[in-house]
Amino acid sequence: MDLILFGPPGAGKGTQAQRLYKVYRTPQVSTGDILRQAVMEVTPLGLEAKPIMESGALVPDALVISIVEERLRQPDCRDGFVLDGFPRTVAQAQALDAMLASLGRHIDSVLSLEVPVEVLVERLTGRRSCPKDGRVYHVTQAPPAKPGVCDVCGTPLVQRPDDAEAVVRARQLTYRRDTEPLKAFYAQRGLLRPVDGTGTLDEVFQRIQAALGKS
Ligand code: AMP
Repeated sequence: MDLILFGPPGAGKGTQAQRLYKVYRTPQVSTGDILRQAVMEVTPLGLEAKPIMESGALVPDALVISIVEERLRQPDCRDGFVLDGFPRTVAQAQALDAMLASLGRHIDSVLSLEVPVEVLVERLTGRRSCPKDGRVYHVTQAPPAKPGVCDVCGTPLVQRPDDAEAVVRARQLTYRRDTEPLKAFYAQRGLLRPVDGTGTLDEVFQRIQAALGKS
């Protein structure tokens, strides 16, 4: 299964990609995670991406396209993958088509998580994570037992710089302007599968499985 998990920031793409991995062993390919890692390691890519990510804008197409090209060639992607946060522009989608065609592959489905904008803002601004083990919490919806610290390792939780409210709003605008038009791009190819992204994680995952014809 070569899949795209599509949707605005905060729609739950990362969480659902992890669940798909647990059940189907399809590796999660998240351009946001790869970029954040580069920022943490202060690589040349990280230095270029950091101010752009902190403003809520998109990193240049050429950079993310080469990241994905390299990642999809890794052996663990041979039998399938779940793209999370890529493509985000029509140019990226066209580059993806070309790179998959060169590998004799094609996208099987684009799962589009649909969530109202105010729910997205609430989810993102309340999100906190453990910098040590990556566990994700929410101040009201999934709080840690002791406020502000990780349940498992006791490390103080942090907020992603781009989850501050002003940046969250900027990211939503970027999504509406640059990324949402991709829905038409994939609908025309008959690949778009809209999925209600509200409710519990289990409910959303069940809908995803139904959309994939797996339940
Ligand atoms: P995410 O974790 O997917 O929300 O990505 C965090 C940030 O990384 C985005 O706001 C962008 O600045 C950058 N980014 C991630 N994926 C892409 C992409 N496909 N194209 C351009 N920028 C991206």
